[in-house]
Amino acid sequence: MSCKNINAFIGPGIGVCHFEVKKDVAKKFPLFVEKRDNKIFVNLKKCVKSKLENNGVLVKDSGICTYCDTNRYFSYRRDKQLKTMLAVILNKSI
Ligand SMILES: [Zn+2]
Repeated sequence: MSCKNINAFIGPGIGVCHFEVKKDVAKKFPLFVEKRDNKIFVNLKKCVKSKLENNGVLVKDSGICTYCDTNRYFSYRRDKQLKTMLAVILNKSI
């Protein structure tokens, strides 16, 4: 199946700036691990983007970290509580 006519957009989500993980999780993302301050972080957006692009999908990233953007988004990791988030996708031809 060709993916050259598929575009993807990575919406708001936790960024590598805040997605700290333990070693057991980091092992599952060996190409997307960053270490700083003796902590391990995984870049999930880079992982998703890489996998899509490797299959010919054009990907754009919002670059928004939900943990960082406290005014617009909730973050379970930041707030320690669940809330609802909604995404809407529209096709230009509608
Ligand atoms: Zn962040």
